[in-house]
Amino acid sequence: MTDPVERAAALREYAEETASCTRCALAKGRTQVVFGSGNPDAELMFVGEAPGFHEDQQGVPFVGQAGKLLERLLAGIGMSRADVYIANVLKCRPPGNRDPLPEEIAACEPHLFRQVELIEPSMVATLGNFATKLLSGRPAGITRVHGHEQEVTLGSRTVLLYPLYHPAAALYTPSMLRVLEEDFARIPALLERARGAATAAAAPEAAPAVPAAEPEALQLGLF
Ligand code: URA
Repeated sequence: MTDPVERAAALREYAEETASCTRCALAKGRTQVVFGSGNPDAELMFVGEAPGFHEDQQGVPFVGQAGKLLERLLAGIGMSRADVYIANVLKCRPPGNRDPLPEEIAACEPHLFRQVELIEPSMVATLGNFATKLLSGRPAGITRVHGHEQEVTLGSRTVLLYPLYHPAAALYTPSMLRVLEEDFARIPALLERARGAATAAAAPEAAPAVPAAEPEALQLGLF
């Protein structure tokens, strides 16, 4: 799907469907499903862990302190929430903000995979252990793999996966915050690379048949 209007409509429709989800027991304690927010046409998607108190109240991911840090990090690379799409592994708040349970992750996973399928990002930055392990399909923890990009196939989509420390963890640990900032600084270059790979995969026949030294002919060909 390439039309932004169609994509936004499909995502909205899926969010409406998900709003009444009862796939796991978290449905009983939630105020509302926190589906995700941002640009449905985003090239870069962030995936966190689960809604906390404020997210559950407001229905939007990353609106608390961790979200403020995420916004500051985005601003540091010249981006804002409006440029990216933000979602979580779990769409409902675990009681007392406890860790997601394996059965909750398994139940909620199809929602995240459908979001990826509809948004078609080139790059997915995972925030913390839960998102990283789920989307990499590997058990290696975030301390080991943060800052190490890798290509992964999510459903029918190949994306550049980029594991990062969770902003909530970095809030209170200055050394972790420094690493998160350093890892974040690489995002623009990685996004460029991921965008190139996604374009090449989408249109392999579009490889330049005209020698680069003939820009005028190329221009004419476009009109
Ligand atoms: N932490 C998360 O992982 N997600 C949120 O939405 C908020 C805090």
